[in-house]
Amino acid sequence: MRSVLIVAFLLVMLSSCKSTEEFTGFSYDPPDVTNTTDKELTPQYKRVIGAGSPKVWVSNEFEGARLNDFYMKNDSLFEVFIQPENAPINNSPWYAFKIWSDTLRTAKIMINYQDATHRYVPKLHKADNLETTYFTKYKELSFEFDSTDGTAIIELKLSEDPVYISAQPLQTSSDLEADLAVRDISGHDFVKLRSAGISKSGREILELEITEVNPDQTAPVLAIVGRQHPPEVTGYLASLSFLEELTSDSELAKEFRNTFVVKAFPMINPDGVDLGHWRHNAGGIDLNRDWKNFNQPETKVVRDALSWMKGHNKRRMFYAIDFHSTNENLFYPINTDIKTDPDNITQKWINFIKGDNKDVDFTVEEFDTSSPIAKNWFYHTFGIDAVTYEVDDQLDMKKLDKISKSAARSLMRLLLDEWKTKKS
Ligand SMILES: [Zn+2]
Repeated sequence: MRSVLIVAFLLVMLSSCKSTEEFTGFSYDPPDVTNTTDKELTPQYKRVIGAGSPKVWVSNEFEGARLNDFYMKNDSLFEVFIQPENAPINNSPWYAFKIWSDTLRTAKIMINYQDATHRYVPKLHKADNLETTYFTKYKELSFEFDSTDGTAIIELKLSEDPVYISAQPLQTSSDLEADLAVRDISGHDFVKLRSAGISKSGREILELEITEVNPDQTAPVLAIVGRQHPPEVTGYLASLSFLEELTSDSELAKEFRNTFVVKAFPMINPDGVDLGHWRHNAGGIDLNRDWKNFNQPETKVVRDALSWMKGHNKRRMFYAIDFHSTNENLFYPINTDIKTDPDNITQKWINFIKGDNKDVDFTVEEFDTSSPIAKNWFYHTFGIDAVTYEVDDQLDMKKLDKISKSAARSLMRLLLDEWKTKKS
């Protein structure tokens, strides 16, 4: 009897250990999310479609576009049909299309989604403004949301001059280098821009190294990754403002560059971004669930660009940030009671960010390190602290820039202090 009880107890212990170790997905994830071998994609056919008489035209023949079909519902109402790259998938329905009309007219456009409900406030871009990279010029459109079928209806004044409608500012892979130049990030001789490797569909994954440290000087490393999820543009823009501050000519930034090495990968899913995906890469996989199995080329590229520093005598991984977006400003630190080296950087940093931005709400949710996400790979590989930094989808662009730059300054001060303490 006793041995039966002991066996039963051991079985319970074993199964409970197993359940905490084997992560199978967050509450909002679709099933099977941690199986990161390639999944089939639903093709998006690139084309121009006309409907009605005289005709209203739409096109998805541009980078970042997502439009799967177009119909006339009645004389004044048209439907744009949007599908994800594959399903099941999280509810982050990206759309981007070009629209014009043979005649001057107003038209209502219903945005209808397969497997999703409307989420992102529609943005209107004039064709000639798409070239403007820095302060993204667009107009937010009002819309009628129908909660029963998850659609949104916008009203547009149409003419022969096309306009672009998108879920978030259009920031695709071919904009990245221009953005880095316009923001004066890449123009310095202490910034090295290189291709770290190639995505599944052959796009370059850009890496920036920012430092004024000598190669033979022992230096701590700050790693920055971002845009694993294509529609998460506010997180991406925050990372660029962040890099702008790290490359500025302030005394703080100079001291930081003389002490630290920054390795930044601001767009690690260029295929997903350019193909107008809702979440996945060209392998149909959520990259931020592939940091254990490394089945996808993009996660492998970043791993291989950094993992050589494990145990290296001159380069020591020190802290890492993974930029994302969601419906609020949110930090996911590693649990306070999990020991990292250096320890609890995120918790200290968030206090500074909150103090510097009293008019903004920030949520903090700590997590264990069981999920196969980027932050946890940094912890498991280097023993360091790391954070998932989520920016509100609807954050005003000027505020976003201000918060990101103040966050970069407080992090530089904090990391410099931590490194000095470590050395002394
Ligand atoms: Zn994300």
